[in-house]
Amino acid sequence: MIRQPAAGHATIVAVSDAPALITDLVQIKLLGEKKRDENLHFRRFMKSRDHSDRILRRVAEGIEDQIDCTQCANCCKTSTTGVTERDIEKLARHLHIAPGRFVADYTMLEDDEGAGTRVLKFTQNAGCVFLEGNLCSVYDARPANCQRYPHVVRGTGSIASRMWTFVDRAAICPIVYNTLEAFKDQLRFRR
Ligand code: SF4
Ligand code: SF4
Repeated sequence: MIRQPAAGHATIVAVSDAPALITDLVQIKLLGEKKRDENLHFRRFMKSRDHSDRILRRVAEGIEDQIDCTQCANCCKTSTTGVTERDIEKLARHLHIAPGRFVADYTMLEDDEGAGTRVLKFTQNAGCVFLEGNLCSVYDARPANCQRYPHVVRGTGSIASRMWTFVDRAAICPIVYNTLEAFKDQLRFRR
């Protein structure tokens, strides 16, 4: 999430003759929901055809470069972030406290169908405990999940294998919404 100098991403636009990107979060929510079925169809389309991840990654990087996460931070305001032991150690070191204290003060268990995933403390009103305005106060030590978010350019496996996360995120994240639209154009997907 937040790329900084960023907490998350968004504003922007127009490069040469490319259409302007949509970064208004109200529109992103509306359009992401409206295009849910189309995006599910596109996900199946991508999985059933060969395509070059190298080219798609370049397309996604072009979108990321145009969007300023510090104007957005929507991911940090709306989604919880899972943390690993490694994240906890790094963040504790960054804050000069013991890992145990970090867990007690800055994390909580999220009841993920009983699995109890450990996540950064989060409230509906303020989002992530480390969000200050639109910026991440622990940017240099942020969890790996935040570094890779929204997992279009950076992530494990092929882009098609990560598509299952993008349908929901298209209604939250301007990078995901605009990247999916650019992928559709690139792959000549018939809407
Ligand atoms: S929701 Fe997307 S565009 Fe907004 S801050 Fe997060 S990664 Fe950046
Ligand atoms: S640690 Fe919190 S504020 Fe920082 S990038 Fe991750 S979710 Fe956003």
